[in-house]
Amino acid sequence: MGMVQDVRIARRTGFCYGVREAVDKAKEAADAGKLTQTLGQVVHNEGVVASLHARGVRSIRALEDADPGSTVVIRAHGVTPAVREAAAGRGLDVIDGTCSWVIAEQRELQKLVEDGYTIVLLGTPNHPEVIGLLGFAPEAIVVDDEGDWDRIPRRKRMALITQSTQPPWKFERLAARMVGLAHELKIVNTVCPVTIRRQEDTVDTAKAVDFMVVVGGRSSANTRELTRLCEIVGTPVLQVEHAPDLDDPGAFGAAALVGVTGGTSTPIEDLARVAERILELAGTPGARARAAELAAAALGAAATPAGRTSSLPAEPARVAALGAAAR
Ligand code: SF4
Repeated sequence: MGMVQDVRIARRTGFCYGVREAVDKAKEAADAGKLTQTLGQVVHNEGVVASLHARGVRSIRALEDADPGSTVVIRAHGVTPAVREAAAGRGLDVIDGTCSWVIAEQRELQKLVEDGYTIVLLGTPNHPEVIGLLGFAPEAIVVDDEGDWDRIPRRKRMALITQSTQPPWKFERLAARMVGLAHELKIVNTVCPVTIRRQEDTVDTAKAVDFMVVVGGRSSANTRELTRLCEIVGTPVLQVEHAPDLDDPGAFGAAALVGVTGGTSTPIEDLARVAERILELAGTPGARARAAELAAAALGAAATPAGRTSSLPAEPARVAALGAAAR
């Protein structure tokens, strides 16, 4: 018999503002009747991709796949200047969904190049954001885990900058290491504040519950980091992509209170579905009977304006607005 009595959703979860705005831009373009494509999947989340698809938005892997004259949305990770130029050269209507924080990162990198620093970029090689950043600093040395750091040379003037979703502790540790490698070291802290807040709130939740479920893409570095933080806190944790992945009530052991958190491209509604699934699967008889109500209460307690999935008008209002526009 299940032992879970209640669920708690971490504060300040759901889409980060960068992902939310990129998704909204794609929706708005499609709703305005434009033939809309996103350059790469705007988020790695089946539900979001399906809802965009239903609105007429499809994703393409490369500019060569774009229909002539169509609208291409650049996702929050950003792209290289070369990709932008190529899009303009093809006569495509480009909508820039690059997150404002990533744009700031790109500008910082450009300045470091102009100032002649040897640049070390902490990031995951081949991550779209890192690929985009390298377009502004092709000579930057990309390093990821600590095993990589021996590759960093000793230079007179060095600069350290980071991909937005790298964990702050890793950035700080690398900065400390680089102090001994340069005469002049410039540190540009571009860890995104959303990432930091999410990690703080995940730790707070993990400390208050008996078990944690982290929701997000398997390959998402920021999601994996949330899982790792729960492990450090000492709270048993499961990482899943979505609610149907939960199928073993025994996984929750004797947990009475279960916490739920998610990566920056996981909509908060997915967290509520996972919360409900936990109660249905491993809840006490009373909690099972009230699974939907308890999950909705957890969502209500967690949802903040920052956690909303869209900044567009609510669906009925949107439909009415579209209807009015059509008249
Ligand atoms: S994690 Fe931060 S930098 Fe990255 S897209 Fe979201 S808001 Fe922007």
